[in-house]
Amino acid sequence: MRFYRPTWAEIDLESLAHNYKQIKKLLKPKTKVMVTIKADAYGHGLIPVAKKLLRCKVDYFGVASIDEGIRLRKENIKVPILILGLILKKDIGPLFRYNLTPTVCDQDLALCLNRKAARLRKPIKVHIKIDTGMGRIGILSTNSENIVKKINSLEFIRIEGIFTHLAAADVNRKLTLQQLGVFNNLVLQLNKSGIEITLIHAANSIAVLNFKKSHFNLVRPGLVIYGLYPKKNLKIKLKSVLNLKTRIIYVKRVPAGYGISYGHDYVTRRGTNIVTLPIGYGDGYPRNLSNCAPILIRGKRFKISGRICMDQLMVDVGNTPVKIGEEAVLIGVQRGNKISAEELAELAKTIPYEIVCGLGGRIPRVYL
Ligand SMILES: *Cc1c(COP(=O)(O)O)cnc(C)c1O
Repeated sequence: MRFYRPTWAEIDLESLAHNYKQIKKLLKPKTKVMVTIKADAYGHGLIPVAKKLLRCKVDYFGVASIDEGIRLRKENIKVPILILGLILKKDIGPLFRYNLTPTVCDQDLALCLNRKAARLRKPIKVHIKIDTGMGRIGILSTNSENIVKKINSLEFIRIEGIFTHLAAADVNRKLTLQQLGVFNNLVLQLNKSGIEITLIHAANSIAVLNFKKSHFNLVRPGLVIYGLYPKKNLKIKLKSVLNLKTRIIYVKRVPAGYGISYGHDYVTRRGTNIVTLPIGYGDGYPRNLSNCAPILIRGKRFKISGRICMDQLMVDVGNTPVKIGEEAVLIGVQRGNKISAEELAELAKTIPYEIVCGLGGRIPRVYL
């Protein structure tokens, strides 16, 4: 890929495969894996990530929308795809055309799918979402048994899966076990009524690592596959997949007392070299990292100086004799020194998910 602004994200697909294998090792051999590749595979690039995971023999993909599912199908990707988000009744056409599996949370959508499927004489697979304590989409667990039974009785609906989502598996063990208990009971009740559902799933990344009970027979990791940690001090060894890099586009000597960037939030204390890097909040690099985030240049940590602009930011490198064209690393490793998305997330008062998903389309992804 050709690009002329020297700012790019390197995506290491071998690390992605490594992480997938590490996660597989935590599972029983029969447990299936649905990798969540919504939001452009967490900013890593939907199609290259999907194709690499296919080579790892992934069982299922989870996406947020029909649109993401269609992008996969247009690349001739044939594994099952679950739309984790909800869809409007008027938009069910493409589910049939592209063989996408919808999430269903009420009878209304189920009836509508059933009618369309009947007309096409082609049953449709669905997964039912149960709300066991997330308060997002999903049938409230207290009402769910009856509703699932009714949906199951529809002639052209095949309930392939039933799932729930954990609200606090990173911090609240009690709530998590309670959610899993409610979900498990529902599945048992349904079994007793003769409704055996093939795929039962609940586990996001942190639950895959910390709650074996949540695995059922399919897990839905996202973050850990990209080598990012949902929490500190986890034992598993992951390799981060995304590295954000740029090159020094300008450097100049400025005197002491010189204000840098909008508002002069940073003022030089002595004569120093100020570097300009061609990346800014217009690329999704968070503006609230102004005056605080680390940058690696020549393997050394420097700090962003002054406010981050839309397309550029500045770094005071002291007397380091840097040259135009030298590489600077915003996320990743340089000469053994590392800046992680987790570290940036903490500084920006957010989560690593938002750091990587936020990186804009203006940053070319280069695949290794
Ligand atoms: C995004 C998502 C996941 C994956 O979460 P991670 O924390 O990235 O592992 C799993 N399930 C659902 C329903 C999701 O929306």
